[in-house]
Amino acid sequence: MAFTIAEPCLNTKDTACVNVCPVDCIHLRKDEDGFATTFQLYIDPDTCIDCGACVPECPVSAIFPNEDVPEAWREYIDKNADWYKMAREDFDAKWGEHEAATYLAKAQAEGVKLEGVVEGFDYAANGLEVPAE
Ligand code: SF4
Ligand code: SF4
Repeated sequence: MAFTIAEPCLNTKDTACVNVCPVDCIHLRKDEDGFATTFQLYIDPDTCIDCGACVPECPVSAIFPNEDVPEAWREYIDKNADWYKMAREDFDAKWGEHEAATYLAKAQAEGVKLEGVVEGFDYAANGLEVPAE
């Protein structure tokens, strides 16, 4: 079955879940290369033992058993699995724009001040204002 990390983790990434996982299947950890440039963390579905220990640790309720992932976030099941199956470059090509669009929409909806402009992202096509540099 496995568990999945969904949209609420975007730009939260506090890694509380990482510390309780008994099989080290949640990445990236803060000390791993690439942590700063990921939008969220991911669970390896092939290693997860369905213990559920990570769920109550998450301050934003981002973690679900796969069968309970809300309809709007079902694509995160594939996204978590892809993180472990694909090279970073291929993962970013498949999911990068989706991540940026979701992150930016969330940040603007919540009034979070965006820092910098995401290179190559079409703000207008996604109905978003370009953040001030
Ligand atoms: S359910 Fe258990 S094994 Fe799976 S990611 Fe969470 S803590 Fe790790
Ligand atoms: S505890 Fe929740 S918000 Fe924090 S890294 Fe894990 S899934 Fe993301």
